[in-house]
Amino acid sequence: MLSDTDLTHLRRCVDLAAEALEAGDEPFGSLLAGPDGAVLLEDRNRVAGGDATRHPEFAIARWAATHLSPEDRTAGTVYTSGEHCPMCAAAHGWVGLGRIVYASSAAQLAGWLADLGVPPAPVRPLPVGEVAPGVPVDGPAPGLDEEVRALHERLHRGG
Ligand code: ZN
Repeated sequence: MLSDTDLTHLRRCVDLAAEALEAGDEPFGSLLAGPDGAVLLEDRNRVAGGDATRHPEFAIARWAATHLSPEDRTAGTVYTSGEHCPMCAAAHGWVGLGRIVYASSAAQLAGWLADLGVPPAPVRPLPVGEVAPGVPVDGPAPGLDEEVRALHERLHRGG
């Protein structure tokens, strides 16, 4: 179940994804919230420079490992416009972060990209649970998922 706080944070993630697209990157945005719901870090996709690992969820995991105690990592929640890829899910699991809430799922994205004729990614779109089975996961968020879909359509169709 998604709370009002969850939906507020997801709204921000979708806005960050739109910001990424405007900047020439891929439309993904994420943020880390502490146990009280306060935003600790925001980031967005930054792959346009040529480093395909510049995903916001990966940046969040590395930031958390440096700046938060193990207890605070577990108590934190990562919100994201699109479900973590296997690389980011693994990083999330390795550093011991807590709940993940996504606006759209990896399966949704894979379907949308296939519909758009985009060739398969070099990494399989596994659900977070397949990579980091101990992590509680919620999503997608009806309505916001359609906004994410529209961003990916803009990326691959132009306009
Ligand atoms: Zn990723």
